[in-house]
Amino acid sequence: MNARLWIGTSWKMHKTIAEAEAYVGELTASPLLDRVEAFIVPPFTALAAVHRALGDAPVHLGAQTMHWQDEGAQTGEISPLMLRDCGVGIVELGHSERRASHGETDATVNAKVASALRHGLRPLICVGDQGDDLDAGASIETVLRQVKLAIKGIDTASLGRALIAYEPVWAIGEAGRPAEPAHVAEVHGALRAMLGQRGLAALPLLYGGSVDRANAGALTALANVDGLFVGRAAWTARGFEEVIEAA
Ligand code: PEP
Repeated sequence: MNARLWIGTSWKMHKTIAEAEAYVGELTASPLLDRVEAFIVPPFTALAAVHRALGDAPVHLGAQTMHWQDEGAQTGEISPLMLRDCGVGIVELGHSERRASHGETDATVNAKVASALRHGLRPLICVGDQGDDLDAGASIETVLRQVKLAIKGIDTASLGRALIAYEPVWAIGEAGRPAEPAHVAEVHGALRAMLGQRGLAALPLLYGGSVDRANAGALTALANVDGLFVGRAAWTARGFEEVIEAA
């Protein structure tokens, strides 16, 4: 793949509106943004403000999850229509934290992917193996299964807008250990082959999990890595810029 790298960050449950605006002010001054497909994924409360602050800066706006219904009696949920209303273009679906603590399943991810595509959103489908999968040599099997279930029954043409992020659960967060490039290469290679068999070889494959400026270059040098999904290292605008610089 020789398209521009997708490099983005989810802020998870961090940043007030004022903090989000300050971040965007700093980030949008960066000349590096033109090198990549940059995206930021703020909490829901900051989406509208970040959309305004971004103006026409070359940064995609993402949300951290959504419900699959357009509207309904779903207290506390956010619909795809509401995301569109806030200027969102990308929606992160299936992050391991949502799978572990917020009832996300392969079936709900599948419903959300279909709904996102129906509403013109670009789903960022997150999949990842557990430490036990890694120890058992079952990483590829687990990740392929999650992707197959996430895209089940959805036509190939509309899936062309999707992004996939491989995020090993054992590599995410403070307790995580960064994945070795050789491991990432193996998993991404298997993903590319499986997607290729379904006419989806062009889907961008991102890696996430303890990415920082020290390992970004080695990861993006891999043949089947088309981008990075970054947490902690990009929670400051300067940190995000450094990852872009290194990638
Ligand atoms: C994540 O939680 O998706 C993530 C990539 O986090 P971090 O980079 O902080 O490990």
